[in-house]
Amino acid sequence: MLEFTTAQIAMGQVAVDKAAALDLLAARLVADGLVAEGYLAGLQAREAQGSTFLGQGIAIPHGTPQTRDQVFATGVRLMQFPAGVDWGDGQIVHLAIVIAARSDEHLSLLQQLTRALGEGDLAEALSRAESAEAVVQLLQGAPREMLLEERTIGIGVSADDFDDLLWQGARLLRRAECVDNGFAAHLQQAQPLPLGDGLWLLSSDQAVRQPGLAFVTPQQPLRHLGQALDGLLCLAAQGDAQQALLDRLCTLLIEGRGLELLRAGTVQGVLALLGGAVPDDWPSARIALANPHGLHARPAKVLAQLAKQFAGEVRVRLADAGAAPVSAKSLSKLLGLGARRGQVLEFSVEPGFAEALPVLLKAVEEGLGEEVEALAPLAPLPLVPDAADSAPLAPVAGSVIKGVAAAPGIASGPAHVQLLQHFDYPLRGESPALERQRLDAALARVRDDIDELIQRSDVNAIREIFITHQEMLADPGLAEEVERRLRQGESAAAAWLAVIDSAARQQESLQDALLAERAADLRDVGRRVLMQLCGLSETPEPKQPYVLVMAEVGPSDVARLDPARVAGILTARGGATAHSAIVARALGIPAVVGAGEGVLLLASGTALLLDGQRGCATVDPASDQLEKALAERELRAQRQRAADARRLEPAVTRDGHAVEVCANIGESAGIEAVVAQGAEGVGLLRTELIFMAHPQLPDEATQEAEYRRVLDGLDGRPLVVRTLDVGGDKPLPYWPIAKEENPFLGVRGIRLTLQRPKVMESQLRALLRAAGDRPLRIMFPMVGQVEEWREARRMVDRLLEEIPVADLQVGIMIEVPSAALLAPVLAAEVDFFSVGTNDLTQYTLAIDRGHPSLSAQADGLHPAVLNLIDMTVRAAHAHGKWVGVCGELAADAQAVPLLVGLDVDELSVAARGIAEVKAQVRALSIEQARTLARQALALGSAGEVRALVEMH
Ligand code: PEP
Ligand code: MG
Repeated sequence: MLEFTTAQIAMGQVAVDKAAALDLLAARLVADGLVAEGYLAGLQAREAQGSTFLGQGIAIPHGTPQTRDQVFATGVRLMQFPAGVDWGDGQIVHLAIVIAARSDEHLSLLQQLTRALGEGDLAEALSRAESAEAVVQLLQGAPREMLLEERTIGIGVSADDFDDLLWQGARLLRRAECVDNGFAAHLQQAQPLPLGDGLWLLSSDQAVRQPGLAFVTPQQPLRHLGQALDGLLCLAAQGDAQQALLDRLCTLLIEGRGLELLRAGTVQGVLALLGGAVPDDWPSARIALANPHGLHARPAKVLAQLAKQFAGEVRVRLADAGAAPVSAKSLSKLLGLGARRGQVLEFSVEPGFAEALPVLLKAVEEGLGEEVEALAPLAPLPLVPDAADSAPLAPVAGSVIKGVAAAPGIASGPAHVQLLQHFDYPLRGESPALERQRLDAALARVRDDIDELIQRSDVNAIREIFITHQEMLADPGLAEEVERRLRQGESAAAAWLAVIDSAARQQESLQDALLAERAADLRDVGRRVLMQLCGLSETPEPKQPYVLVMAEVGPSDVARLDPARVAGILTARGGATAHSAIVARALGIPAVVGAGEGVLLLASGTALLLDGQRGCATVDPASDQLEKALAERELRAQRQRAADARRLEPAVTRDGHAVEVCANIGESAGIEAVVAQGAEGVGLLRTELIFMAHPQLPDEATQEAEYRRVLDGLDGRPLVVRTLDVGGDKPLPYWPIAKEENPFLGVRGIRLTLQRPKVMESQLRALLRAAGDRPLRIMFPMVGQVEEWREARRMVDRLLEEIPVADLQVGIMIEVPSAALLAPVLAAEVDFFSVGTNDLTQYTLAIDRGHPSLSAQADGLHPAVLNLIDMTVRAAHAHGKWVGVCGELAADAQAVPLLVGLDVDELSVAARGIAEVKAQVRALSIEQARTLARQALALGSAGEVRALVEMH
């Protein structure tokens, strides 16, 4: 494992720029014999692919896979640059950690840095550090955690005596990179401590890198110093990191349960006894505590006694406290929970002892020997609903499932239900050779499947996803770890899942949005292999066009879809403004989302009739219903054809009020087709999609070419460009952004670009250069404060002196309620507003637009949102400024009359919706629309607003 020592650090270095810094770093690696001269090219190539800036003034330059053969020995060297080096985009590096490694060792290094990166202003501290010791201390951050995991448990290892067993324990700790080679020797010097029941403990704090515990049991019974030797705990001690674990061990011994450790028989069993976490497969159930004084001594004693009646382990925790569970058999632990009346207890029991759960729940419900007044609403709540009354019911034939209209259109076809599968497999394998064979066969099949997907896909971004999956399958690091487990006797499925899970967790723990995505990919491809190993296969796709039914369709799931095969999409969760719904609309697949868990109980093959406009699906429709719907589809198609025929004409109401109808786009290609679909301009160019389409941050010239292409295609029509809107939930692969607890409330949109002014300036320059004398409108996303707008505006003004543009307007998006409420102030300064109803709705109603169960309620026709739009329009018009709406609401058939009635000047929608929106505007009278809008503003819910529109 790579780690930091003072000897690796060169303090007080100076480099004029990044290139000079890379030269210095490479020279140091060469001088120390770690790499060949050619490694410098690797460092440069890696930076060209994407900056290695990590945050907090730290960069971790390393080579590329192509220069791995230039590495003689793995190692790191650190250079402090007190004056800083610009690592690109204005990111200043004060400490460069250059890595010489042949594989992904930098990930372990990142993990070590995670704590330090989360602390205060590290960059500043690093720039001011005066000694190498100080730098090491800064990098170490808070003290390290105790390692106790599957890798450090060895059941039934081959050992002839105490020393053999000790050596096996030390070896596990060495492999887990807790200790250095000398640890075993130190352990041999330590005094062995008999714990009773044949258990022994040995401990040393010498040659320890990270505190950890190994537990080994011998294949055959052994004796040591005249006593039984059935299990040995080897502790790599450091400070007081092991205290909590030793406490748990003591409790176990005091309770006379030491033997359980030896009888556990499985790695998971041992971990469950020693570790804090409860394995996922333990049955669990929750109940609210009703005792007036909480879980005090008397009821706790009753509970502990009851729990002790069960031979298996019983754990309990406070469900909402996030703390580790404790043994329900320990009175002191129960008291330590400090559970109060009303708090929810979560019980977990070892598999095989599930009968304990109802007994425990009943006892708690009855007050554990005390009189209690029931907490009716919080009565026993099974974690996994299995009670018939709380379980969703399968929709019956003829029933109509209600959901959220996510993409318009009528679709019919058999349901193709795709559920996340449950895996069942033995933990121990038959023999390592057999398990290896099974795994190889499963991997080969998955590789073939992915190859086919790569061949089939003609969209680059989709192909890339699958190529990454292939690379993951070929990762030698994973293979090595799996092999080690197979040799220890695990089954192929158990070994594979453990390794994938641990690698994914490692990436998730790095607090980096991109790595978290990689972890999701890893789990995805891991699941495919596991399916093969467990003999499961996906339900075959129906031959005819079908309706895909899933719990939730993520954007990458949509990427797998073939619009020719998928007639419609029906999901249990999700809302209309989730990005997956936007993708479905873009692909033209009718979709109903957020229809409830019941849809997952539909049998594959059940006939479905889905109406993506009304947001409903009929199960097994009667033939006359189907005919009627198909006739309606035809009618809609006719209407669409009529609308299409007039798509190039302006949208003017019956009484002569014109509304501009523009297109939302995310790429420069195909702009001519957008104009041909009737766009009077582009109302929203999502530039982050252009950035995402490039493998690295597009430079100014590349961006200029992209924007020029759009302006050329628009041929004099206006272009409204939104500056880069990334951060939080929308990461850029090459732009490391720290993972945030609440990304939607974090550093996104203008907040991010103002923090990286170089990126913003380069985008603005590219835009101004591309514009010439064409009408260019620039707007900033996520503005919530007037200062944000002013700072951005100043930047534009400064650049305009350098690059004049004849027809430029600068405005902001109204996506945050504070901006709408400040509209009277902002309207005096901006040239226009564009309302992003997707975000405005989520922030106004405090509902995450992608929330699995709530986003269905995030309806932009909520009167609260309409009132904010109304305020915005009135403020803008008072200052002679215009207002557009570019969120999904602008294309919602029920919203169009209201937005027009609120006097919105421009509607910007996906290109395929333009003709229809224009046709709708033409059918309106502005005066009637205004009256309708005033009525809607006074209502209390989105449902009432929709009913009002429906009535007219
Ligand atoms: C919006 O929020 O309404 C919007 C148009 O922006 P996006 O959907 O890209 O966040
Ligand atoms: Mg938005």
